[in-house]
Amino acid sequence: MENQWKKFNQDGSYTVRTCGWSPPGDHPVGCGMKLHVKDGKLLKVEGDPEHPITQGRLCIRCLSLPEYVHHPQRITYPMKRVGERGEDKWQRISWDEAWDIIVEKINYFKETSGMESIVVFGGTGREACLYYYPLAFSSIGTPNCCYALSGWSCYGPRCSITDYILGAGYPEIDFAGYYPDRYEHEGYVLPKYVVLWGKNPLMSNPDGFFGHSLIDLMKRGTKMICVDPRIHWLATRAEYVLQLRPGSDTALALGLLNVIINEELYDRDFVENWTYGFEELKERVQEYPPEIVSEITWVPKQKIIDVARILGTCHPAPIQWGLAVDENPNGVQLGHALLSIAAITGNLDVPGGITLGPPASMLGKWRMEVRSQMPNELWEKRIGAAEWPALSTAMATTHPDETLDTLETGKPYKLRMGWFNSSNFITPTCSAQPDRWYRALKQLEFCVVQDCFMTPTAQAFGDIFLPLPTFAEHDGVVITHFGRNAIFLGAINKAFEVGECKSDIEVCIELGKRLHPEHWPWNTAEEFFDDQLKPELGISFDDLRNMGVYQPNYEYKKYEKGLLRFDGEPGFNTVTGMVELCSTLFESWGEDALPYFKEPHYGPNSTPELFKEYPFVLTTGARKFTSFHSEHRQIPTLREIDPDPVVEIHPDSAEKYGIKEGDWVCLENMFGKAKLKAHLTATIHPKVVHATHGWWFPEQDAKEPHLYGVWESNINTLIPHKHIGKLGFGAPFKSLICKAYRVEE
Ligand code: SF4
Repeated sequence: MENQWKKFNQDGSYTVRTCGWSPPGDHPVGCGMKLHVKDGKLLKVEGDPEHPITQGRLCIRCLSLPEYVHHPQRITYPMKRVGERGEDKWQRISWDEAWDIIVEKINYFKETSGMESIVVFGGTGREACLYYYPLAFSSIGTPNCCYALSGWSCYGPRCSITDYILGAGYPEIDFAGYYPDRYEHEGYVLPKYVVLWGKNPLMSNPDGFFGHSLIDLMKRGTKMICVDPRIHWLATRAEYVLQLRPGSDTALALGLLNVIINEELYDRDFVENWTYGFEELKERVQEYPPEIVSEITWVPKQKIIDVARILGTCHPAPIQWGLAVDENPNGVQLGHALLSIAAITGNLDVPGGITLGPPASMLGKWRMEVRSQMPNELWEKRIGAAEWPALSTAMATTHPDETLDTLETGKPYKLRMGWFNSSNFITPTCSAQPDRWYRALKQLEFCVVQDCFMTPTAQAFGDIFLPLPTFAEHDGVVITHFGRNAIFLGAINKAFEVGECKSDIEVCIELGKRLHPEHWPWNTAEEFFDDQLKPELGISFDDLRNMGVYQPNYEYKKYEKGLLRFDGEPGFNTVTGMVELCSTLFESWGEDALPYFKEPHYGPNSTPELFKEYPFVLTTGARKFTSFHSEHRQIPTLREIDPDPVVEIHPDSAEKYGIKEGDWVCLENMFGKAKLKAHLTATIHPKVVHATHGWWFPEQDAKEPHLYGVWESNINTLIPHKHIGKLGFGAPFKSLICKAYRVEE
């Protein structure tokens, strides 16, 4: 890449090269773009053709960044609430005034109820490494930071399962991302097939994988296999689509294992030398022959056999797993089964297979390490840690469902103050039964909210609002997979300022210096990033800016070379030193050591009587190009493309219930209801409906009880609280039941 990140143009404008990070956008994809700025205004965004991964391609979300950053409703100054909460009465204040109020309150709660009475909620994050952990542990000093998604059902389970089973970071498919010459790299092998399991990367661009890379692979000859209840764009171009019943994935994965093992299609050498528990797994999968699995999953038996044979005979054929693995109370077993398929078919850590990173590195490691700055007796008070050891071993947060219980009951102690770090979670993004959260959170005595726009969450609970910048307005580092598989690191370069916004790390430093100066020796974000980069990479933040993107070297077959274990011995960094097909850790936590299928809590097989009343299987939350969870609803271009919340219904089912294209429809079940617009499509199974998530209406009344219409289309009111797996992970966001009927607009 050109060694210059900022260029002045003849017309008085300048151009800044940068890498993207939400908002708008996704988690750490780090797309390369050029920001054209004049007179303090962002004029235009274009893709950076020199960026080795994204090569000039951008989504509509980043292309509409000028509308976002200069939007009249952006909150760009600190504010304090005047009047009652939810009255929509706010007053601009200075940062010093905001800090004075906040510091006084934190000290008051610390003295009267202990630091643990404060809880920090984190959402999608505004910088590459989710600064709500250090904000809680190191700046404020509370052990309670909470990601409120029931069963921690996003990304955390996949990372934890990989750590337990492989002792590694995030297993990403090999798309030649580590190499500047990409697919031409000597030693890189093109995957013959890629399995997309519960994932639509074109729209989701997840964490360390730019979705369009699949198009790159397909152009070169890779074939797709899609496992999904919906037939999305990629599935229409796939060789196989396994359109399964939502929530039945684990049975399908075990059925594939049944064929691969019984037909002896596995990699014998890998199984013998690098796995633990193969015989036990072999015995377990006998319970899942293709004909039974076909009945459970609705996938034709022959397709299961065909795909299993492809996985067993075509190498490399990596599996890319998606959110559907996490949003499933049976998802730990699904993850275990998928990693087992990848391992026994010889796809781990080989060219074109699945790459493995360390469980944490650089900024990702730092955000966990700051917890050691807290005294043990305080750390032990973390909500839900004792009750859910599997989850609390891997995740440094509270247990989300337990946190709601604590808010409701005051047990084991009362929570009194909340801090919402870019988390709009009463909108249907991450909380199950947000109506319960809403009532429980109302009891907090003081709340701080950080965000870019006013949201229903901020309006309902906020006493102080702190404005966040977009990635275009601050310096930072984007590291893919949060350091768990750093395919590259990119520089986020500040191009201009809007108002008085402060980035997550700036807020951590400023508050930290006031409350715990011993933890915060840095004066600027740049100093902080220098200290993060130099020890491991030997480069400064400025060096990274000039490089644009840093691609670390990748070594295949690390398990043979002693590069995965801390003791330097060959093998995997697990208790047995092997890939644990039979998990020693699961057993120690009272869970079955082998994967098994468990029916969803509600569905045609587990609750047939209820299913008569609620005859659809409900799945939620598939991604759109126009939004990232609850963001962007106020951006005109994006709203024009995607104006309403939508429920997808098969035309035959719609006809049966008198529903036509564009009708407003109520989805209802035992827990709640939501209003969405019908979209009739044959791409969904007739017994399934899919509802979009994240809806609220910034154009509507902000005041309580309306809160921008947050309860109108709130699909998460249909998802029950604490219907989670035995280890504490997974919730039924993708496998519930409901009925659907027409309603007036
Ligand atoms: S994936 Fe799309 S929205 Fe996200 S950062 Fe990249 S271009 Fe922006």
